[in-house]
Order: sequence, then structure tokens, then C-alpha cells
Amino acid sequence: MREILELRMPEEEARRHVPPDVGETLPLGHVRRLLLEVNHPLVEQLRAIEWEYRAQGTTLFSMCDVERHYTPRELRAAEYVMVGFWPFFRPTGVECGTRYDDSTACPHCGSGARQANELHLELRRIPKRRDLSITMGGEYVITSRLAEVLRQHRITGYELRPIVSRGGRPAPEHHQLIIPSASAEVVPPTHVGGSYLYPEPDPSRCPEGHVLGLRLLSSLYVPRDSLGKQDWVFTRQKFGRRGGLFHPLPRMIVTQRLYRLLAEQKVRHLHAEVVHLV
Ligand SMILES: [Zn+2]
Repeated sequence: MREILELRMPEEEARRHVPPDVGETLPLGHVRRLLLEVNHPLVEQLRAIEWEYRAQGTTLFSMCDVERHYTPRELRAAEYVMVGFWPFFRPTGVECGTRYDDSTACPHCGSGARQANELHLELRRIPKRRDLSITMGGEYVITSRLAEVLRQHRITGYELRPIVSRGGRPAPEHHQLIIPSASAEVVPPTHVGGSYLYPEPDPSRCPEGHVLGLRLLSSLYVPRDSLGKQDWVFTRQKFGRRGGLFHPLPRMIVTQRLYRLLAEQKVRHLHAEVVHLV
């Protein structure tokens, strides 16, 4: 596994703190983008500088995010795999007439709002070449084709619900994918925080424990007995910040059997990470 830190900072600041041959200046010339292994010596230098910036109430970076890259061999050896299907698409359910009942939602993080009607979407805006996709509001969409493959392989731990257009016309080729179980417990040493170089304080964390923080900064650790027996499960805790159409989302975990099936079916934008069992 390689951990790669992606940093974006104003080019003017980059000239002060970063050697000229490190990273690339993005088109328009205002932003430098750096991709660094987390053990690169520059990372600790930039961490120290970021702490000085934060002490003055500002930040050096417009982006500071770490991504973990596993080899195909590591992924095939894992009992459970965390999967994601971003980039998100829009418009979201809420923008198209899907209603959410906020009466059960947590006042701190908004977690627990219940979907109160069928998922309404702009049908022609559902990504055409993707068997699994996710709206910016965290609603999962699956093609009938892939749903049929899951059924044939007796995959467990999911439900299908209809998707309709703004006007209520049923989507012919798509369903909403629902994962009813959110039993997977995220535990230490999983590291969660505001940013890789400045994790704390993280104001997105929910005092009730629904949201662990803004970003997952390490691999995911989960007790085996919290995963249940289904092929598909969500984490109990969520990640992210409420704002606009975004809200905190759980991470999706699948069995090796389901991961292989998704990979064999060439599901596009399949982001995969090993889940560590404790
Ligand atoms: Zn909460």
C-alpha cells in the first residue's frame, strides 16, 4: 500500500516553501499541485509551516488529502474491501423532488434523516456508462443489468427500490441501491480528522458519535464481529461535513466475493481499499 498526499497551494506560496521542480503548476498558473509519498521529507516541513499558518487562523493549502493505493494482489487477499464509486453526480434526489424526514435527524450532524418517498432524479442525468453511481446527496444508483448479476450470484445485504423522474415516471434501467445494515464499527487505530497535516480540531465530528470527522486519514479498522454475515454493509459512523447538498456519508464495505464480482463486471470508478479486521 502506498499513501499519497495531494496538496494544492497558491503558486506564490509554493515558490517560498517548495523547490521549483516539485509538483506541477496548474493551468492559469495560480496553483501548484503536489503528489507526495507521505514519508517524503518535504511533508514534515510543510506540516510545520501549516501549523504556523493555522496558528494565525489561515491555511497554506486549498487541498490537503491523502489517498491509499493498494496493489491488486493486496485487494484480492483481503477478506473485506471498502469500496466507493465517486465522482458524485447531480442533480441529487432533493433537487428533483425526493423528500427527507428530518424529524428523526441528529441536531448536531443531520444524521438519521429518513427518505420519505421514492428517489426522484433527473433520469437523463444518471451517468450512462456506470453500473453503480452516487449522487452528491449520497443516493446510490444501480443499473438493472448489474442488479440481475447480483441476484444470479445470490449476493446479500442490499435492497432495490424504484427510481422515478421529477414527474413520477419510472426509470426503466435503474434502481436505487439500499444497504440496510450499518453495523460495521470503525475503531482505532483508524485515524480521522480535518486534514492530513492538521487533523485537529475537526469541527465536523458529532458529539453523539454519528460522524467521526471530516476525512478518513488512514486505513479502515473494523472488528470482524461487527460486519455481520451479509455481502454488503455500511459503517455505523459517517464521514464528512454538512453543507449545501453534501452531508456526512458512511463508508461501504463488501466481502471479497462481492468485490471480485464488481471487478469482473468492470464496474467503473470502483475505488477499493483493504479493510483491516481487529
Ligand atoms: Zn450526530
